[in-house]
Order: sequence, then structure tokens, then C-alpha cells
Amino acid sequence: MSNQNNTIPTIHDFDLNLICEYYLSLDRQGPGSPEVTLKALSFIEGLTAESRIADLGCGTGGQTMTLAAATTGHIVGLDLFPKFIDRLNEQAWEHGVRDRVQGIVGSMDALPFEPESLDLIWCEGAIYNLGFERGLRYFRDFLKSGGWVAVTENTWLTDEHPAEVEEFWNAAYPEIDTIPNKIATMQRAGYEFVAAFKVPEKCWHNFYASQDEANRIFLEKHAGDPAAEAFLAGEAFERALYEKYHEPWGYVFYIGRKA
Ligand code: SAH
Repeated sequence: MSNQNNTIPTIHDFDLNLICEYYLSLDRQGPGSPEVTLKALSFIEGLTAESRIADLGCGTGGQTMTLAAATTGHIVGLDLFPKFIDRLNEQAWEHGVRDRVQGIVGSMDALPFEPESLDLIWCEGAIYNLGFERGLRYFRDFLKSGGWVAVTENTWLTDEHPAEVEEFWNAAYPEIDTIPNKIATMQRAGYEFVAAFKVPEKCWHNFYASQDEANRIFLEKHAGDPAAEAFLAGEAFERALYEKYHEPWGYVFYIGRKA
């Protein structure tokens, strides 16, 4: 996707290998924390050792390991980047859960599961890749009757938004919307609404702070590479915008059940 009308580079404009290398050096590839993952999981009932769970857009598996420790079922983590999946599988060995946690390379718009075979679909910081509504509708086909979905999604948290924030998000992710509208979308997509809660601001601060060291190493390695520098500039722009305003938007965890 080119971005000729906008001076702010988007992530799509850069070499995917560069993006992969950069994010591989972080524990999490999006804002979240074990506490937040566990809070979302607390709304979900009836999981057993037989449960089938998919963690889509799992990255290097930060939240997958939290899910593995808190559940006894089988978990498949799926992500586009093979190196992220290698890291997830290494972590599964280290955590002693390799017998029931498997990382696989794949795309969340072409899931390798049987229809109606999953008890829970997890997706932190990644459903935007499909879009919230499209993703929820597609995931639903793979859930058993009464199966659960838990996703984080970029959401407007205030009624008013400064113009530069509005402009940025309308270009970067036009599907951003309010909590009531997201809940209505979830219901329209065929789910009973279970819960929604805001991912605390400190998760965003921690996520951006975790990039400091990654930025240093990345810049050192790729000094003078215009693609790498432009990628970092895009990341820095979003971070600066969040640090300047932080109230108007953030991630909200939405938990639903296949109706
Ligand atoms: N869940 C992780 C990672 C979120 S970042 C966390 O919260 O830390 C978004 C992730 O989605 C990245 O790992 C990226 O590689 C992955 N991704 C992007 N497009 C994808 C697709 N079509 N299918 C599967 N994964 C995808």
C-alpha cells in the first residue's frame, strides 16, 4: 500500500524483514501485560484440558505463555513471521508446555482449523490486520457453539479528539470507533457481548519504553538506510502522539461468546 498523500509513513511501506527484526527484539509486539491477559481470561468459563485455543497474531508469544500457564488446554499460536513463531516455540520449551502449545506460521485470514473446532480465539493487538468486524465474522466460523472470543482493538475513549489525532487515526485505522459502537459491531457479527475493559495506559507506556533499547540497536545496525530510518520515524510519530495526548484513544479488550 503506498502512502503518497500523507507525509507520515505507514508500517506497510517498509520492508517486512526490517519490521520483523525490530519487533523480534521486544518481548511484546503490542501494548498488553500478563495482568491484562489474565483479566480478560477471567471472563471466560468452562475451559478444560480438552479445550482448543487459538492465539492469532501471537507475535513472539508473550500473551501465549500467560494463557498457557493459566489454562490446561491445547493452544495454537499463529503468526505471519516465521522468526516470531520460532521464538514462541522456544519459549514453550522453556516453560515446559511444548506438549500442548504449538506455534505455526500462517495468516489469520486463511486459518488452518476445521469449522466449529475451537473453544476460544484470542487476538491481542492484531485483529486490526483484518479489521474488527471482518475479523470477528471470519473467526466465528471456527468457534464451536458457545465458543469465546477475546480481542484488543483500538478504540476512541473520549468524545472529543484533537484534530491531529483524528487525522492520524482516520488515515492509519479508519475503523477506530467508540466502545458502544464496537460492542454493537460485535453483536452484529454474531456474538453475545460478555465484557469490555480498557487496557491501562501504563501498558502503552511500557510498550513504547521497551522500544528505546530496540531503537538504539536498530539504528546502529541500519544507520543511513532510508527505509529503516523512515520506519523508526513512523514509530516515533505514533509514540509522540500518544505521549502528547494519551486520553483520546487506546486498546480496549472485548470479550464475546458465539451466539
Ligand atoms: N499478540 C502480540 C503481537 C501483536 S502485534 C502481542 O500483543 O504482543 C501484531 C502481530 O500480528 C504481529 O506479530 C504480526 O506479525 C502479526 N500479523 C500481521 N498480519 C498478520 C496476518 N495476516 N496473520 C497473522 N498474523 C499477522
